[in-house]
Amino acid sequence: MMQWSKRRQSSWVQLAGHQGNFQLSEGGEVLKRWSETEGACLSLLMSDVLRVFVPRYYGPLSRNGNDYLRLEDLLSGLTHPVIMDCKMGVRTYLEEEIAKARMSHTLRNDMYQKMVKVDPSAPLAEEHAQGAVTKLRYMQWRDSVSSSSTLGFRIEGIMLENGTVLRDFNRTQSIGQLIDAFLTFTKSNLHILRAYQSRLQALSDVLHESEFFNTHELIGSSLLFVHDSSSKANVWMIDFGKSMPTPEGIHLQHDVAWTEGNREDGYLIGLASINRLLAKAIRR
Ligand code: ATP
Ligand code: MG
Ligand code: MG
Repeated sequence: MMQWSKRRQSSWVQLAGHQGNFQLSEGGEVLKRWSETEGACLSLLMSDVLRVFVPRYYGPLSRNGNDYLRLEDLLSGLTHPVIMDCKMGVRTYLEEEIAKARMSHTLRNDMYQKMVKVDPSAPLAEEHAQGAVTKLRYMQWRDSVSSSSTLGFRIEGIMLENGTVLRDFNRTQSIGQLIDAFLTFTKSNLHILRAYQSRLQALSDVLHESEFFNTHELIGSSLLFVHDSSSKANVWMIDFGKSMPTPEGIHLQHDVAWTEGNREDGYLIGLASINRLLAKAIRR
């Protein structure tokens, strides 16, 4: 009973990831399926200057035989929140994943299906014949058809005030389309667009001082944009499941192109792109 009443009060929605990875817990917390990597990042982040941009982390929790990360629910207390998940970076897979994918020649029918769903003409003749693609091929294709490779971020999903969820941004690449998406997301409200701009400026300042950012490669991490009718707008850093400590001796710049081996994530390329697009949206 408790859980149901809490559930109704919260406007919780999940814009990305597997549905089974999350649970709502009592007291305005979100439980995300445990990952060693993410738990380690969140622990470090709680004493980093970036902590004001990260949901509060209350530590691990076991429930019904599963382990979870206990996180602050960023939507708690908001009525009809409007949210957008932007996955940051010029690539969304780890260099280790490339190495693994190269070793394994397993053909993936599930990834072929996902590819065809987005673009039936994307698979090569051979891939069509096999009805499958390799994981490496799928990962690289997915980043290249979205705005990830070129702009350093892609929109994973948007939820509007009335609960409508827009997820069809897999092939959204052009500046014009992305500005339109930002305008839809904010209903062209200048006050909200400017609030996001200043929050991102603050984030950018703090990133440059952050020990965590200085020592981690952020892959597949998102910025969660949240506002509601009160026009308060906030941006949060979430999803550290693939944020790895950089090896000894490697210092990431975060704003240069990725070439295999340099481990660069392009996080700041994405942030600069979003800022540029917000500025353009404001001038429209
Ligand atoms: P993927 O790796 O596929 O992106 P994931 O399983 O790692 O997914 P997240 O990206 O961390 O999951 O979160 C998925 C979605 O859940 C987010 O887009 C957001 O809508 C919601 N979400 C995650 N954490 C929180 C939070 N602390 N408060 C509110 N909403 C959250
Ligand atoms: Mg995510
Ligand atoms: Mg993730």
